Amino acid sequence: MTVIKRIAIIGAGTMGRMISLQIARHGFPVTLYDIQSEMLTDAKQAQRDYLAGWMSAGDITITDSETILARITLSSDLLEAVKDADLVIEAVPEQVDLKRKVFKQLDAVMREHAIIATNSSSIRVSLLEDATERPEQVANFHFYTPVWDSPMVEVGGGTQTSSDVLDALSEFAIAIGILPLRVQKESTGFIFNRVWRAIKREVLRVADSGVASFEDIDRAWMIKYGTHDLPPFAQMDRIGLDVVQAIEEHYARESGDPADLPPPILTEKVARGDLGQKTGCGFYTYPNPSYAQSDFLKPDKS
Ligand code: NAD
Repeated sequence: MTVIKRIAIIGAGTMGRMISLQIARHGFPVTLYDIQSEMLTDAKQAQRDYLAGWMSAGDITITDSETILARITLSSDLLEAVKDADLVIEAVPEQVDLKRKVFKQLDAVMREHAIIATNSSSIRVSLLEDATERPEQVANFHFYTPVWDSPMVEVGGGTQTSSDVLDALSEFAIAIGILPLRVQKESTGFIFNRVWRAIKREVLRVADSGVASFEDIDRAWMIKYGTHDLPPFAQMDRIGLDVVQAIEEHYARESGDPADLPPPILTEKVARGDLGQKTGCGFYTYPNPSYAQSDFLKPDKS
């Protein structure tokens, strides 16, 4: 079985920075690559902030924090970033053409035995596999956010992925403290994202059609299911509204049904640049969103 010892991540955005930190925390060297150097600078700062949070929670020491950071190499040179890797995880935006381009670039420079995995939220790897000369060594490897608080990853193959590769990915997931869930049959959105997609699609439509405010939908969710996790609109803000839109557009392209296109309540925000937590404004405004205030669920709210 392929032994995964050195890893590279392509794309240092919301997911790439978290996945690389999780990998480094579990003792593996990892290189984080992005085409935009400022994303690497942002990623490093975000990783320092996560580590500071773990230190103040008493989960790690300052020495642990330095050791973890030292395992992460930032790179703006694709060849340097991936040339020694046994596994490369692609985490660039959710567009089939872009991911195909990246898969092709990676295939040309990676070691022969190495695995190319995509962290795509919805795109089946069979739509990407023929961009490479190694279709038996490509896979879906889909993490959830925040990676350490949602410790599961969906592992699935395309039309030719070898079982050896899927086993190697599952074993690697376990080695970094993440539960692998095997996708037994290719499916757009894999396992849990299909369920989350049904929720997201409906809450967007309930709000877009004027039936209820997005805050009241989130209030109903929090009261019914508890407040320990983010309600749907807050969750979309955390994911990034541009990312949510790209995923919904992919589903709509696949189904060919215009009713699957994301509604204006979402697309108008994205067009304005209100992308959620990462820009400070999405459905809610940050850093002090109303859903996190103590009076959000109070019966006497005005
Ligand atoms: P993001 O927009 O935060 O980050 C994407 C990064 O990719 C950016 O830093 C960008 O500069 C970089 N990039 C763009 N083109 C590139 C290229 N050709 N080579 C190298 N880097 C390039 O996106 P994200 O939210 O991290 O999402 C990345 C992937 O992960 C998407 O497929 C998304 O669907 C999936 N995903 C996202 C979430 C989430 O909660 N945001 C969860 C699970 C999976």
